[in-house]
Amino acid sequence: MEKFPWWSDEHVKLQKDVRALMDQLAPREIESRWTREFPFDIYEKIGAAGFTGAGIPKEYGGMGLGCTGACIVAEEIHTYSPGVGRIVVGNMMGGVRQLLDCGTEEQKKKWLPRIAQGELGCVGITEMTAGTDASGMELEAKLDGDNYILNGKKRFIVGAGLAQHYIVYALTGNTPEERKKYRHLSAFIVEKGAPGFTTERINEILGFENVQNGSLDFENVVVSKENMIGGHGDGWKVLMEGLQFERTLISASASGWQRTLLQYTVPYAQRRIQFNKPTIDQAGNQSKIADIIMRLKMTRLSVYYTSYIWDLGMDVAVESSMVKAMGAEATMASAMDATQVMAGDGVNRFYPIQNIFEVAKTDYIAGGTLEACRLVVFRSGLKLMAEDMKMPRREISKILGVPVPAVGPVAKKLALNEENVLSVLAEDYRVNQGLHMTLGDIQEYVTADDAGLSAVLEELAKQGLIMAQRTKKGGIYLAKANYAGLEKAYPKEYYRWAPDFITEDRRF
Ligand SMILES: Cc1cc2nc3c(=O)[nH]c(=O)nc-3n(C[C@H](O)[C@H](O)[C@H](O)COP(=O)(O)OP(=O)(O)OC[C@H]3O[C@@H](n4cnc5c(N)ncnc54)[C@H](O)[C@@H]3O)c2cc1C
Repeated sequence: MEKFPWWSDEHVKLQKDVRALMDQLAPREIESRWTREFPFDIYEKIGAAGFTGAGIPKEYGGMGLGCTGACIVAEEIHTYSPGVGRIVVGNMMGGVRQLLDCGTEEQKKKWLPRIAQGELGCVGITEMTAGTDASGMELEAKLDGDNYILNGKKRFIVGAGLAQHYIVYALTGNTPEERKKYRHLSAFIVEKGAPGFTTERINEILGFENVQNGSLDFENVVVSKENMIGGHGDGWKVLMEGLQFERTLISASASGWQRTLLQYTVPYAQRRIQFNKPTIDQAGNQSKIADIIMRLKMTRLSVYYTSYIWDLGMDVAVESSMVKAMGAEATMASAMDATQVMAGDGVNRFYPIQNIFEVAKTDYIAGGTLEACRLVVFRSGLKLMAEDMKMPRREISKILGVPVPAVGPVAKKLALNEENVLSVLAEDYRVNQGLHMTLGDIQEYVTADDAGLSAVLEELAKQGLIMAQRTKKGGIYLAKANYAGLEKAYPKEYYRWAPDFITEDRRF
């Protein structure tokens, strides 16, 4: 599969090495899906090869190949195996970024080499009260001397019961102030075998036949302060670091699944004869295969761009949620197309297409729903891309009377008074008929600070000449001339306009 020009020789070698190992392990992976057993043997071999440490720095026993290396491993393994691949992602996300970004030096030295050698990890966020609203968790951790005592439950945990260590988020504060600032949570590592820590139930999840998913129960589980990642109240920060990594890896996994779709769909259609010719000769099938190729290329480009800028130390808040959502949707759309191209065999369990169809849907949910990802893209996007979201200032063309982009700032700003502000609002009615103006918009035309402009707007509102939107504190943040204001600012004729081809006899 395509290697990106910015990959190092080590990244290229890693891709080849993972592929070579997975070639050997693929038959066993399929068998374990039929027998519904977790293939510890496969996982041990992946760990022994050091692939679970791809994203861990060399000084902590890893390969030091960054987020790009971790994505290469996730993608290659998923090309062969939806289930085992998810556990590798689970293992990697089960601590790597949280520890690297928020852990102490001792914690990094203790846990990262274990992860690099393949020790299974889990992440415990979700609870019966905490889904998309992850901050709504109720599992409580109470400080008791040098320990915290954990009580509560987690659910939907990939690898529950299989994993050796669990990153668990818990409530450590409950004041309105702590909740408002997202300082009410803390992160802990809990080890399998801790007294009072049990799997409550194991429930199968669509598409994950050989990987357990289940609920965890904590009854007076004693966890040493040394196992807290970050400080008391840092849980939300730790959780978000982990989620960004998880989302990027999930989208790398989606690339792997999309590759599997191509590996089967194209040769299948080249060999399947209907109406005396291969079904790949049908235009409908060609179009679907073209879409699968396009989505795969776009997903991979997004994944490896995100991991590249991650490795450069750049902010990936938007990109990691974006690739997760896009990758899941692309996989689902391609699984639908691939199923259609292979028809009956597309839903036959003797081929992998139906399995990818199923796991693609779970990726609409795991690691944060598509809606949650879009919420992050929306909120972070508005902040980080504010400069790109400025509507150009527009004015009425003197020749045509229609709105056109204005060149540069206004030549001469108006003085601050009621008449001028009203005239600006009325002029804006001609340009943006249905929109209010922000204080900043008005300040492009009037020389005024916020306080002075607010006072004039309040006066206009008192006179019933404008409509206003107010902040919770009562200040005006959006204003617009109402009908009375428009009439006071200019004669009715000023607002009339129609294109030249609408002659006078066709107007009234
Ligand atoms: C395969 C799989 C593996 C998982 N692995 C783990 C794991 O290892 N560890 C773990 O902790 N959890 C895990 N989860 C849980 C997963 O993170 C949650 O299921 C997910 O966050 C959604 O929570 P929920 O199911 O409670 O849905 P809800 O939060 O109840 O959401 C229901 C619907 O409402 C929408 N919705 C809710 N709030 C909003 C909003 N504010 N704006 C827009 N839409 C909204 C959601 O998008 C969704 O469509 C896993 C889930 C799956 C399916």
